[in-house]
This record gives sequence, structure tokens and C-alpha cells, in this order.
Amino acid sequence: MPFQHRIYNFAPGPATLPEEVLEAAGKDMLLWQGLGAGVMEVSHRSPAFMNCYQDALQNLIDLMKIPSNYKVLFLQGGAIGQNAAIPMNLMKLAKSGPQADFIVSGVWTQKSVAEASKYGTARIAATSKDQHFHCVPDRSTWDLSPDSAYVHICDNETVGGVEFSQTPDVGNTPLVADISSNILSREIDVSRYGVLFAGAQKNIGPAGVTIVIVREDLIGHAMPITPTIWDWQVQANNDSMINTPTTFAIYMAGEVFKWLKKSGGVTQMEKLNQQKSQLLYEVLDQSSLYEGRVHKDSRSRMNVTFYLRDESLFEAFLKQASDAGMTGLKGHKSVGGMRASIYNAMPLEGVQCLAQFMREFERRA
Ligand code: PMP
Repeated sequence: MPFQHRIYNFAPGPATLPEEVLEAAGKDMLLWQGLGAGVMEVSHRSPAFMNCYQDALQNLIDLMKIPSNYKVLFLQGGAIGQNAAIPMNLMKLAKSGPQADFIVSGVWTQKSVAEASKYGTARIAATSKDQHFHCVPDRSTWDLSPDSAYVHICDNETVGGVEFSQTPDVGNTPLVADISSNILSREIDVSRYGVLFAGAQKNIGPAGVTIVIVREDLIGHAMPITPTIWDWQVQANNDSMINTPTTFAIYMAGEVFKWLKKSGGVTQMEKLNQQKSQLLYEVLDQSSLYEGRVHKDSRSRMNVTFYLRDESLFEAFLKQASDAGMTGLKGHKSVGGMRASIYNAMPLEGVQCLAQFMREFERRA
């Protein structure tokens, strides 16, 4: 350090973005679409930006195969904001007073419970806390209530590196999923969900825009206290522009969606992500130095977490990785250890480089 060139950045978010998108954005920052001004400087109501917004929207719909009875919103306030917006928009649907079920699989669902409990009863229907959040709670342990408006899961717990391997069956109750850290990383059947939501700063673009995909029949039930900017009905009726939207973040998201389409779409990303994560899990499984604690059936393809059995090597691992051009590997402070975040924009070569470094570090240790 300091670096004068781009390195492999394994940070959990904000995270690495496709180089060709960054290069094009650099030019568009100064001069966009022959307007004599940069993309950040033009009105959100201008035809140029409205086209850019419509393209981004359509490309996301195409990439995720979002059915026509869903609305796609580009909001603000992050996934943390939606932790409040979701109960405010949905809890009224519960039969006997505002209530929802939560499947707690780590830090992010714990936060969702805390926020939702300000607006109604946030029932913990299942948790893997006793297993130190090293797995998704087994479906057979879920105690779902027929009086709950929805079931909330976090599809990929970014801190623990714990991911659902498939969409859980929750019957007719709407399933709400936080897909902040695995949106567009694998094929999902959107029709199995009532609401999907994600901050953009991992798999999509810069921080600032929050994607909310919501089934139409779940719109229009907001509590009267709901702030206008988080009332899905109001936003759906106004192209998500009830106030000034995050124009630059939406532009960047749109460029990443185009890049994704060009790169083979979600099907290709899923294959690559499987391959990338497998490379690292193989290192863990064959090692006597590294310890992956996440149960095999809950292993995240986006955030690979591991510990060093000899903790005295922690700083040396990070320093040597950085010297070799790999950063962002320190685990979240609440759990320690290491974490390699390998979102769509992390090339296979970056993961190969890390896997090789890990093997060599162990040999030298
Ligand atoms: N949910 C998950 C799974 C996350 O990883 C994060 C951020 N790391 C959040 C929610 C919070 O997102 P935001 O910072 O966009 O509010």
C-alpha cells in the first residue's frame, strides 16, 4: 500500500464493480449523451434520464424474469430502511393485529426483527442462534403463525456467510426476502416471493439505491404513519420519483444490468459463482489451518467466511494478502475471522489468485 493500480477487492459492500462499467462511467461523469453535462448533473425529469431509468428497470425485469404482476421500485434508505418500510406496508394484512414471522439466521435478520417490532409483533418463528448462526434454521423447526402477515427471511446473511440453498415453502403467506447480498447471483423464481429487497452496493452498483420488488396485491396496505417516501403505493404510482431519486446510482445500476446481459445473464453468473465459491470451499475443506464453520448445506456463494485455527497468524494473513494485491478480507467485527466477498463483478481470476495465496500461506505457516 498505497496502490497505484486496481487490486482484487474482496470487500463486502460497497464492493468491486465491473471495470468496463467504471471506465464508461468516468467518461459519462463529464459528458453524457451529448448533453454538454455529466450524468450526475441532469434533471431526473429530463428525457435522457427517464430513458436511462426505463432501460434500467426493463433490464432488471428481463434479468430476473420478474412477472408482470410485480412492481419494481428504486428507493432510498437502504435495506435497513426497508426493515421499517416492510412492516409499515404489510403488517396491517395480519388477521388479528399487526404481526409477522421472522426466520433469524444472523445479524441482518436480528436487525430486521428489532426494527419491525416498533410497528407490531415480530415473532421469531425459527432461529439458528444456538448453532452460532452457522446455518439456516432447518425448515422442520419453523413455527409459523397463521396470524402473521408475512414471513421474513434473509436469503444470504452477509456477515456469517449463510445462504438459503433453495426458496423455502411457506404456504400462502407472502414470503419477504432480503437479497441485498445475492441479488442477480443465481436464478430465483420471483413468483414464489411476495417481496424481494436489496441495497445495491454489493451486486449492483454504488450505495444509494434500494431495489424493492413487490407483488401488486401487497401494495396499498400501508399504515397511516408510513412516511410518503416509503409508501410503496405512492412510489409505484410515481415511477419511484416522489422525491429526487438517486440518479447516479440508478444510472450505474443500469450500466451493470447491461454488463450482466452481455456477460450471459443470471444463468451464467450462477455457474461462475458456483465455480468461484467452490474453489475457496475446496481450500477450506482440504486445510488444517483454515476452518470454515458454516454447515455445508448453508454455505454462501457470495461471502465465504473462515477462521485461522492459529489466530496468531491473523495479521500476517491480511498483510501478506494485501502485499499480493488482495484486500477487504477481514471478517465482520461481530464474528471475527476472514470473509471473502465474491460478488458477480469479482472475476474468476481474482478467486483463483486468492485460493492459490491461501494454499501457499498455509504451506509457509
Ligand atoms: N441486509 C443485508 C443482508 C446486508 O448485507 C446489509 C448491508 N451489509 C443490509 C441488510 C443493510 O443494508 P443497507 O446498508 O443498504 O441499509
